[in-house]
Amino acid sequence: MENSPVQSPPVQSPSAESAVPPEEHRFEAEVDAVLRLVINSLYSNKEIFLRELISNASDALDKLRFRALTETHLVAEGTALGVRLDPDEAQKTLTLADNGVGMSKEELQKNLGTIAKSGTREFLARLEAAQKSGVSQIGQFGVGFYSSFLVADHVEVISRAAGTEDAWRWSSDGQGTFRLEPATRAEQGTSVVLHLKDEHLEYLKGWELERLVRAYSDYLSWPIELRNEPSKAEDDDADESKPAEGESAEAAPVEPEPAYRRVNKGTALWQRSPKEVTKEQYEELYQHLSHDWEPPLAYRHFKIEGTTEFSGVVFIPRRAPNDLFSPDSKHGLRLHVKRVFIMEDADALVPKWLRFVRGVVDSEDLPLNVSRELLQDSRLTKTIRGQVVKAVLDLLSEVAKERPDDYALFWKTFGAVFKEGLHFEPEQAKKLLPLLRYETTKSDGLTSLFEVKSRMKEGQKSLYYALGESRAQLTQSPLIEGLKKRDLEVVLMTDPVDGWAVHGLHEVEGTPLVDASKAGGEAEGEVDAAKKTGQDEHTKALRDAMRARLAEHVSEVRVSTRLSDSPACLVSPAGGLPPHLERLLRASQPDAPKPKRVLELNAEHPLVTGLVALAGKSADEPALHRFIDLVYAQALLAEGSPPENPAELARAMGELLVESVSRA
Ligand code: ADP
Repeated sequence: MENSPVQSPPVQSPSAESAVPPEEHRFEAEVDAVLRLVINSLYSNKEIFLRELISNASDALDKLRFRALTETHLVAEGTALGVRLDPDEAQKTLTLADNGVGMSKEELQKNLGTIAKSGTREFLARLEAAQKSGVSQIGQFGVGFYSSFLVADHVEVISRAAGTEDAWRWSSDGQGTFRLEPATRAEQGTSVVLHLKDEHLEYLKGWELERLVRAYSDYLSWPIELRNEPSKAEDDDADESKPAEGESAEAAPVEPEPAYRRVNKGTALWQRSPKEVTKEQYEELYQHLSHDWEPPLAYRHFKIEGTTEFSGVVFIPRRAPNDLFSPDSKHGLRLHVKRVFIMEDADALVPKWLRFVRGVVDSEDLPLNVSRELLQDSRLTKTIRGQVVKAVLDLLSEVAKERPDDYALFWKTFGAVFKEGLHFEPEQAKKLLPLLRYETTKSDGLTSLFEVKSRMKEGQKSLYYALGESRAQLTQSPLIEGLKKRDLEVVLMTDPVDGWAVHGLHEVEGTPLVDASKAGGEAEGEVDAAKKTGQDEHTKALRDAMRARLAEHVSEVRVSTRLSDSPACLVSPAGGLPPHLERLLRASQPDAPKPKRVLELNAEHPLVTGLVALAGKSADEPALHRFIDLVYAQALLAEGSPPENPAELARAMGELLVESVSRA
């Protein structure tokens, strides 16, 4: 890291010499709301303003260093980049100056006058809710620049965008309007001048600022320097002063420039030994990377040494972002190369099915000018990605083992995304298997497939699963009646993603995993072939009549080996979607072809035996047709599908009820 100090904050007073008159702007309505909320809800956490402003400065420095890789003229030679804190007792101001990318007039107006981020509205709602319930962690909210108004009644931002000559001053007292006017600044970057409220003059004290930097911003690698108190060189007050590092003030009796000393360690957190890093520091890094206001659920720090070298930290958040399922949601890790920030959301470093993971990777071997495209194709990226996946899976296994409640929360929040891995990387299935959780017919909460296997019955050959909409619908489904009757446990898969994810799973340690809707008693070798043939023959006339009557909806009518209490059920043809997914598909693609189903009959059910008798008399009997329609409608209802013609069904049922009542 650069050792020489950054240039002193080049703030100059409003340019009376400038001919351009100041412009007065109104804040966007949401900004007013944020400001009000910030001030009302964070009053006991005021100190976070410093973390927020330093975090912004660090991002601005990252952006500048990245741009300077290709636009070398942006940073004058010999310039040391960093952040400076300048408390001024006389003026009661605290100035934070960075020589990062800076902002143009338009950027000042947009970034500090509107709420550009899409998540902000949701954030506002959460902040409001948290405020109502008095959440103690409210100080965790990443409220950004507006937190300045917690401690200041007037704020000035003087900024000059890198590569331009003009500087602009944004100023506001946080009361609905801000002012923009030309200013001067010697180099690129931003100075935030906080005119502190009288009750917050503690933020002019060096020791207080130093404490806050250590507590909140020590994970940053940019030097954060604090101006030495001016009294220091003259009256050598031993109990107040601390020795300055480097070129100390003592060496210079007359001080042409104010002396600054560095207050943070200045080593990126991921480069340190995990033993030296506290949980709070990891959490600070997480919040800086993710803008999440809650601490992460879990994190892992990794360092790979050998032919390729890289280090990083991965985090599992506690809550899902709004866009978790949006097709163009951003994901990925923040990439650094040899400490230089390269890009946000480097998606080549994490597979999409781990898109909830946040974190940072710092590579020693990637070229500094690496682009997104290059990253996609690089062999090195694959190595890093592999290690990131490993770190995440190891971390999740640890959480599953040691903190089951947290794991349940993870599963509820991200399980559906995680299961996509079974489909996209079936070769990983073995590693994902121990981490999968499902409900089953025999468990109240979530259970792993290993546990289901351990509960297999004597002689049971397969593990069974059923795909459906909900636990309630599945447990009532005729499809698993037979399995339930035989007291076999059925894994209930109720996430839409399960329909395709499950194809990545074939077995659990040698035991095949079988779709209950495709399996009858055959799977357990319980079918009596002679009996089955007898039933096939006995029901033939009925089945033919049904096939003819229901030709539009059904491709086949057969005797079932799975039913015990219901007269009939519908089964999807091989390769077909389960009915709830079929409905989902149809909602988005109404014209998608509708595959015909297979109707299965319970040959021992009294309704079926009665119909067999009726069909034996005549296949064209109107009564028979009415019953066939009802059996089909009943099978649809039982699986949770709407009947083809509800009005017709209601009428037919009405008739039947009248007949029954008259006989009662
Ligand atoms: P956030 O940092 O969460 O995006 P802020 O309200 O703190 O929200 O800042 C809004 C935007 O203003 C930032 O995203 C950034 O573009 C810009 N900004 C803030 N501080 C600085 C700075 N010191 N240098 C350059 N740009 C800045």
